[in-house]
Amino acid sequence: MSIAVYPGSFDPITLGHLNIIRRASALFDEIIVCVMVNSSKRPLFNRAERVELIKRTIARFPNVRVESSEELVVKFMKDRGAKVIIKGLRAVSDFDREFQIALVNGKLDKSIETLFMPSSEKYTYLSSTAVKEMARYGANLSTFVPKEIIEDVIKKVESEGLMIR
Ligand code: ADP
Repeated sequence: MSIAVYPGSFDPITLGHLNIIRRASALFDEIIVCVMVNSSKRPLFNRAERVELIKRTIARFPNVRVESSEELVVKFMKDRGAKVIIKGLRAVSDFDREFQIALVNGKLDKSIETLFMPSSEKYTYLSSTAVKEMARYGANLSTFVPKEIIEDVIKKVESEGLMIR
């Protein structure tokens, strides 16, 4: 069985992430979306909340599930028999960082392969950071995040006192 892992912060999941998940789900028997801890970013949503938002939006894909992890992605993968890491690339700016991470993961475990998927041109501008910024200004989020989570993003930004009026 071919299992691929799609790791990221997903703070929150966007339509760009979902586009990669949909396309990757057609290539593998199983996709595990893995919510990772990024120590250099202070997240808006905690890990359990990010998992819950993803769970709701991937319900339509029978071969996709979500987990979270604080361990190295290669360790997480070994325990689940996954061999491929999926990464979405928006622009050259993503490439430098992602290429380095791919090489490091390959050094840690030679049996792991990283597969880069180009972002759909519809979503190359889209990042979780942009979503959070738009939400602060009260912008319409329907072209940025899955409809199932729009209310959650608005409520969170409001409850954290981050709205700009
Ligand atoms: P962000 O940069 O939005 O905070 P994450 O750290 O959650 O994203 O990224 C997880 C993965 O999704 C990475 O491989 C990233 O390059 C990819 N990704 C993020 N946004 C998009 C997008 N709009 N289109 C395609 N891939 C994306």
